[in-house]
Amino acid sequence: MSAELFSIRMHSSLAGSHLSGAERLGDRRALSALAASLVERALAHERGEADQIRVTVERLDPGALLTGCLPGLMTLRVPDHRQGRQAAAELLRGAGVAPEAISSALSWLLEGPSPEGGNLRGAMLIDAVSGERLEPDRRRGVRVSRMDLAPSLAEELGRALASFDLDNAHVREALVLAGKVLAAPGVVAELCWSDDPSYTAGYVASSGGGYQRLTHLKALGDPRGGRAFFLRPEGLDLPALLAFLEKTPMLFTGLGPLAHPVDWRG
Ligand code: AMP
Repeated sequence: MSAELFSIRMHSSLAGSHLSGAERLGDRRALSALAASLVERALAHERGEADQIRVTVERLDPGALLTGCLPGLMTLRVPDHRQGRQAAAELLRGAGVAPEAISSALSWLLEGPSPEGGNLRGAMLIDAVSGERLEPDRRRGVRVSRMDLAPSLAEELGRALASFDLDNAHVREALVLAGKVLAAPGVVAELCWSDDPSYTAGYVASSGGGYQRLTHLKALGDPRGGRAFFLRPEGLDLPALLAFLEKTPMLFTGLGPLAHPVDWRG
């Protein structure tokens, strides 16, 4: 990537509700192709065709760019989403999240984390001890932005994931997002499952465990999904955390280790 750096973000909605979003980084030459692919994606979402699409392009200060390595990835096979959620709870406990915080996150995700019971555009922020919700806007959540794979890594990651039959947009983008979340000050762990009705896998990410993918975290056909970022309450600087997640540009230049799938044995 050249010295020029732009953030390009897409947000689409249908009948006033969030449909999809995506964030990329690119140089001047990459912008129009990136914009076209993001618009196509908003029009081809499995939950419907967007009736409003916003694409935002912003020049960034290349001097502010951070680089890092993606987290390691491991797939844990579970027979169904009930066992997947039990496994997620155990992984979160192992990462240092208190049981109250785990049950709070799971119930918000099951009910739908927005005040109307729907999906958020962004993530919930949850106190990893008390389970309290900490994000300033509960209708929107916190959207992690301004991150991408370095162009030189995109192909290498695709090849590595393909050898595990995992080279899809869900995994690629979630690895990048989890990589930035784990680099953020005060984050203990993340829990995610998609809002795409046909995608039932999800993950727990933590600095000790990396990206631990669980093959089922929700029932097939369920349109609800979301993300919870668990925060260490001691010394938490919420404005600094929000600035990092939303504004600091981060490019991933190296892969973490990829492990063979194993059956979950709790
Ligand atoms: P997805 O994996 O794209 O289906 O997203 C699942 C859920 O994660 C969405 O419903 C949002 O609540 C949340 N989410 C998606 N993208 C982001 C992001 N960039 N930052 C924070 N939360 C996100």
